[in-house]
Amino acid sequence: MAIDLVCGMEVNDYASGYSVIYAGERYLFCSEGCLAEFERHPQEYMSPPVSCCPGRSEEDGSSV
Ligand SMILES: [Zn+2]
Repeated sequence: MAIDLVCGMEVNDYASGYSVIYAGERYLFCSEGCLAEFERHPQEYMSPPVSCCPGRSEEDGSSV
């Protein structure tokens, strides 16, 4: 199972005819519409790693 990054639906790996290779990874989609939407702006659908506690370590310098 893979997750359609556009609509969040589960997509059956081998049943889906809609896939794209992006940044060396293969992504599957439930429909041509979702695939096209992803290709339009793929970066919006890539979830960047969430950094812990943004701004927190710089805000308070007394923790040294
Ligand atoms: Zn979809």
